[in-house]
Amino acid sequence: MKIGFVGLGNMGAPMAANLSKAGHEVTGFDTADVTVEGVTQAETIGAAVRAADAVITMLPNGAILRSVADQIIPDMQNGAVLIDCSTVDVESARAVADLAQNAGLLSVDAPVSGGIGGAAAGTLTFMAGGEDAAFAKAAPLFDIMGQKAVHCGDAGSGQAAKICNNMILGVTMIATCEAFALADKLGLDRQKMFDVVSTSSGYSWTMNAYCPAPGVGPQSPADNDYKPGFAAELMLKDLRLSQQAAESADADTPMGQIATALYEQFVESENGTGMDFSAMLPRFEKRGRG
Ligand code: NAD
Repeated sequence: MKIGFVGLGNMGAPMAANLSKAGHEVTGFDTADVTVEGVTQAETIGAAVRAADAVITMLPNGAILRSVADQIIPDMQNGAVLIDCSTVDVESARAVADLAQNAGLLSVDAPVSGGIGGAAAGTLTFMAGGEDAAFAKAAPLFDIMGQKAVHCGDAGSGQAAKICNNMILGVTMIATCEAFALADKLGLDRQKMFDVVSTSSGYSWTMNAYCPAPGVGPQSPADNDYKPGFAAELMLKDLRLSQQAAESADADTPMGQIATALYEQFVESENGTGMDFSAMLPRFEKRGRG
């Protein structure tokens, strides 16, 4: 396939490289000066997408996605598929899908889970929203860049699945960290706490696979001075998207709201930027109830 790839950042660059390694003809465009092995750099955004059977976007947010979509959709070939892998608000995802449909294009919102490691290894999980024909056209590319793709429903459903998953992640990480900090104050050894909880009803991905306590459980960012991993500011971005969606859908999400406020405080006033999101544990450790 001829593939246009817009947004060659931390995630986009390794994803584009994997498509090229698999034998696709990939032309990339980024506003920053980047080179990616196997990917031809286009001088203009139009040149990256004009001849493409599929265009993939991997961009920072919904506003940038909308402006890029406005630029590329008129240039794309009839019947080509637009695959947006960025994490954006559900409304932007739906607006871009409408624009694409009106221009005779197929489109899928397909945010990912798995981070930079997953992007490099080609083991991402894709959560996709869009029509069956669009998903079918994108699926072989998901197979190269990832290990699993779930077709979640119509346009916007991929983003809906992503922010619901990540709202659970943020809330669960906070619960795990505050429980460790309480256990410390009760004189309970962290290893014993892990041994019990990881095999009891408090178990979770944040405890069992990504334990926030250094030296306990499998290797995680806690064992590397809380270097990300998954940065606290990216967790905050996704939590904010979950609350924006909850507001527009009139959903009651009190735990998501509290998690958003805590990560906001951590990132904006407590030097949490650049730390892994599990660094909530040293934050709680230092605090009392007051
Ligand atoms: P990034 O900032 O490294 O990359 C974004 C790229 O888009 C940059 O290279 C930037 O120059 C480029 N860009 C910005 N505006 C552009 C424009 N108008 N035209 C062309 N290129 C433009 O971000 P990232 O870490 O690669 O994340 C990308 C998306 O993936 C985000 O939506 C993020 O939430 C999501 N995501 C990231 C991770 C992660 O661990 N980094 C995990 C899952 C999902």
